[in-house]
Amino acid sequence: MDLGIRGRKGIVCAASKGLGRGCAEALAEAGVDLVICARGRDALEATADVLRSKGVPVTAVVADITTEDGRAAVLAAAGPQVDILVTNAGGPPPGLWSDWARGDFLQAIDANMLTPIALMQAVLPGMMARGWGRVVNITSVSVKAPVAVLGLSNAARAGLTGFVAGTARQVAGQGVTINNLLPGMHATDRAVALDQGAARAQNISEDEARAQRWATIPVGRYGTPAEFGAACAFLCSMHAGFIVGQNILLDGGATNLSM
Ligand code: NAP
Repeated sequence: MDLGIRGRKGIVCAASKGLGRGCAEALAEAGVDLVICARGRDALEATADVLRSKGVPVTAVVADITTEDGRAAVLAAAGPQVDILVTNAGGPPPGLWSDWARGDFLQAIDANMLTPIALMQAVLPGMMARGWGRVVNITSVSVKAPVAVLGLSNAARAGLTGFVAGTARQVAGQGVTINNLLPGMHATDRAVALDQGAARAQNISEDEARAQRWATIPVGRYGTPAEFGAACAFLCSMHAGFIVGQNILLDGGATNLSM
């Protein structure tokens, strides 16, 4: 299917690895000119080279997207016309509800709520003026099924979800769609780290820990960044103009919601 976005300009945040990279690869295959960012230079440059090999211009910006300076650098690299924005950043650490102080909440809210909101506020006016735009926020399954040990993530992502629910309806009339993609367990560095943590905690092998986690997913495996990226690229396509303000779960059926 031709996604109809060849030559569009897109920003994919936190895109040197994992789900952000999956989104960037799928958008590059659809012909989107990309600005990508991450904090570490080496992985970012390597990813940029892979994306360029798909035939699109790519600007790689070493930046922490959760800082004002980082966001300014990414937006400056993209220039005045941004057609597609994919927001993403690392998730907050796990813990217990009684562990977290005000500063921990502010950090999580800054990274996973206020950062995507600031990026949307920066690009939405131009998208609306031009009559076309696509925003996809990478959030988490924890939006629909909060994970107890991820209280910081649950809190920050719930705030972003509420903001998007209202804002998406306010900009849709100008040809701009905003949707959230909610990953369940995907095969990224984070999944490996979680497998290793479970293996250590139960004194079992990493393979056994992975098998236990796979068994909780009806499809019997982790999702891949490529599958995630394909869903993202479709939401960014010309075909997705009637999908507005949705929270789309990509979790292999792990969360049993009837609606
Ligand atoms: P990942 O494999 O660890 O990749 C994270 C990517 O983001 C890397 O490229 C990293 O590069 C970059 N990054 C992290 N923090 C950044 C920052 N402050 N500024 C710029 N770049 C940053 O993570 P992932 O699994 O793709 O997860 C992506 C998001 O989805 C996270 O918020 C995570 O909590 C959420 N999520 C993931 C899963 C899953 O199963 N994978 C499930 C639910 C939710 P640098 O470190 O070099 O900056």
